[in-house]
Amino acid sequence: MDKGNSSAGGPGGDTDGERAVRRDEAVRAAVEQGLLGPGSPIVGLLDVTGIRESAAALRAAFDEVTAPGTPVLHAFAVKATPLVPVLRLLREEGIGAEVASPGELALARAAGLPPGRTVLDSPAKTPAELREALALGIAVNADNPQELDRIDGLMRSAASRSPIGIRVNPQVGAGAIEALSTATATSKFGVALRDEGAREWVVRAYAERPWLSRLHAHTGSQGVPLSLMAEGVAATYALAEEINRRIGRPQIDTIDIGGGLPVNFASDVTTPTYADYARVLKESVPGLFDGRYGLVTEFGRSLLAKHGTVVARVEYAKSAGGRPVAVTHAGVQVATRTVYAPGAWPLRIAAYDGKGRPKEGPEVVQDVAGPACFAGDLLAQAYPLPLLEQGDYAAALDTGAYYFAHHYAYNSLTRPGIYGFAPDGAGGTDFATVRETQTVEEIVAESGGAHAAALTTLRTPGRR
Ligand SMILES: *Cc1c(COP(=O)(O)O)cnc(C)c1O
Repeated sequence: MDKGNSSAGGPGGDTDGERAVRRDEAVRAAVEQGLLGPGSPIVGLLDVTGIRESAAALRAAFDEVTAPGTPVLHAFAVKATPLVPVLRLLREEGIGAEVASPGELALARAAGLPPGRTVLDSPAKTPAELREALALGIAVNADNPQELDRIDGLMRSAASRSPIGIRVNPQVGAGAIEALSTATATSKFGVALRDEGAREWVVRAYAERPWLSRLHAHTGSQGVPLSLMAEGVAATYALAEEINRRIGRPQIDTIDIGGGLPVNFASDVTTPTYADYARVLKESVPGLFDGRYGLVTEFGRSLLAKHGTVVARVEYAKSAGGRPVAVTHAGVQVATRTVYAPGAWPLRIAAYDGKGRPKEGPEVVQDVAGPACFAGDLLAQAYPLPLLEQGDYAAALDTGAYYFAHHYAYNSLTRPGIYGFAPDGAGGTDFATVRETQTVEEIVAESGGAHAAALTTLRTPGRR
């Protein structure tokens, strides 16, 4: 297998084609082995080979542009795929974790990630969270002056090994998806650098705190073009240079450039690649790579998206107003963004027959619907596919990040089981359980089942 290809990244790269072949084989094997069927009508599948390849491509891309010996920590943004076995697999591939809540930190720790490979960012850290992070020695990026005050207090009361930085918002502008654009003028994240007095405040904050050694920015996610991302990184680098110059020593030793590499949801081609981004950065911010700064990255979607597939059985095939509608078991509970904002988040759908083989036949424009009880619960609308029939399977592709790992409990639909897969070396596919299918008993328990009579015990005075 040509591992270099996804980082070389040309359209038609073998790596992308092989991934599509593995996916088809995994769907067939999942049906054959009974992971998918009438009794388990929806699963999430994760391509272990593909995840390893993306991790290797990320490492190689930055190795290529950094001076020898530059410390680089690639911290996976846990929010993209918050699953412990995924974090463990990435750990084995040399990837750390970026966490943004007590839950995400607990997942990273459960996966065995050491504090030195963990970064805590979030806009709403409580004193208890900050205390725990500093006690563990996890890197922390302060979001705002009030948070830095809290850190001051904690640093006075106990020494910490944590590398600490400030998150800035270079305010370089929005990408195509407003809700995911973190570098707008009024974004809620970080210290807004172009606001009056903000830059001076940041410089003074470093001058007064010799333990502030990092600078962080994350200028957006899906929808932000590489050139705008590079502008954000360039502004962050320029600020680090200014701070170090004005303090008179290289106090900032590490720049955390965030994540946000966009993913191509329109085909199997990986574009842009990590190598593309690293090259753009090297061209626009050469000083960042000359060895004076360590680097932290926080990619999420681009590491996992193309390695996940959610496959759902067609329970019924019907027709309405002349349009065929396949009613499947995948909808808003596993593809929340797509269902609520289909224009911003279109997904590719693939059709498989009842044996899990790619479905043949002329393309027919049809709707692929989910199981939830509202009309907008559609994975795809007016989508050309071989006609889906009862007992077939529909697969939503590129759903390894921010989709089936982000269950939305509408209609109390159960969380689907998630399975990792890899070729078994003998022409078949092996599966490993990542997350069990949720049971209805668990749903009852999570829905107040232990407190069934709770509300009836409260009595309004004077009423009976
Ligand atoms: C969401 C987020 C990331 C990851 O973004 P992707 O688009 O998934 O790469 C990285 N850093 C921070 C601070 C984030 O909020």
